[in-house]
Amino acid sequence: MPPLKFAVLAGDYIGPEVMSAALRVLAALAQRENLVLEYTEAAVGGAAIDRHGQALPESTLQTCAAADAILFGSVGGPKWEKLPPAQQPERAALLPLRRHFTLFANLRPGLLYPELTGASPLKPERIPQGIDILCIRELTGGLYFGLPKATTTLPDGDIQAVDTMVYRKSEIERITATAITAARARKRRLCSIDKANVLETSVLWRQTVTAYVARHAPELTLSHLYVDNAAMQLVRDPNQFDVFVTENMFGDILSDEMAVICGSLGMLSSASLGTGRNSRGLPFGLYEPAGGTAPDLAGRGIANPCAQILSAALMLRYSFGLEQSAARLEAAVRRAVTGGFRTGDIAFGGAYLGTEAMADAIIAHL
Ligand code: NAD
Repeated sequence: MPPLKFAVLAGDYIGPEVMSAALRVLAALAQRENLVLEYTEAAVGGAAIDRHGQALPESTLQTCAAADAILFGSVGGPKWEKLPPAQQPERAALLPLRRHFTLFANLRPGLLYPELTGASPLKPERIPQGIDILCIRELTGGLYFGLPKATTTLPDGDIQAVDTMVYRKSEIERITATAITAARARKRRLCSIDKANVLETSVLWRQTVTAYVARHAPELTLSHLYVDNAAMQLVRDPNQFDVFVTENMFGDILSDEMAVICGSLGMLSSASLGTGRNSRGLPFGLYEPAGGTAPDLAGRGIANPCAQILSAALMLRYSFGLEQSAARLEAAVRRAVTGGFRTGDIAFGGAYLGTEAMADAIIAHL
């Protein structure tokens, strides 16, 4: 097995803390499974602004391009908030990275272990088995990238702003293909979410998803929901979904709704997969926690490293094809957490561990 080559972009505030814990857990896993890790660390976000004057230096981009995957922490925070919007760490690092590698598919597992239902704002009786769903969000099209995008002053002195929601059939087909692969690996149920009663892009979305699934995955059970209904259904009965797929802005909103019902951001991972293939012929991807840099926790060694560790598991699965290693890592996190080893965000006021002790507990459960 050739070495696992990945770029490590830890970022800011809790980013380096949870990354260092995740790398230690990965090293322990590698030792047990005879895997060789070959990773290169590079600056990104505020840390890169401080060191190199820009959030995504060319050298960092080159490190990523030479790797088979990117393990990303999180970027941004109060230290850089006074910079002009276009230079802010998230906008100047994460969005260009997504664009550069055409990371069009964002996979976000919504996972809440039954033992942690108390961390969810939903009533426990709505989620007796916890939550286990998967959100697939289109990440490089739609309203966030469509042109024209402008604010203009009209002849009558009024001011008008325009954003453009645009999708091509080919963009919808490639995200549908990703959703099919994910649904096949789970319960073979796929829900496509749109607003086809109002939006042209959604009419094309629904037609395209329907035709593509009928042609390429007739064995799947496909359903459709309008996004407003989906937002309600997600809090009413989240487990009625298994895999859902949706366009960029709807996915942005629904995935955050999903994050809140799953308890702590400290537990939620994500994968962003691109059109490119890595040196193993597998999808090049960027793997990161769903949450941000948590400046309120930074420097205290108490952030939950699980989201970063679970993101590393997704990297093993999707960019390195190591399903068993990924599953072993996920099972270790689950056993540690359900066995009572917890950081403050999921300890419900009881005794809790710091970031490094949590990593030790996970290593012990590998
Ligand atoms: P946040 O996700 O950093 O924090 C929201 C809440 O979740 C906080 O209470 C925090 O303590 C908690 N939390 C997050 N991660 C946790 C962890 N690992 N363990 C325990 N608790 C955790 O969101 P925010 O406070 O709105 O943003 C802080 C900064 O992060 C901002 O600068 C924002 O722009 C940036 N951000 C970056 C990314 C990214 O890099 N992908 C994503 C979101 C926010």
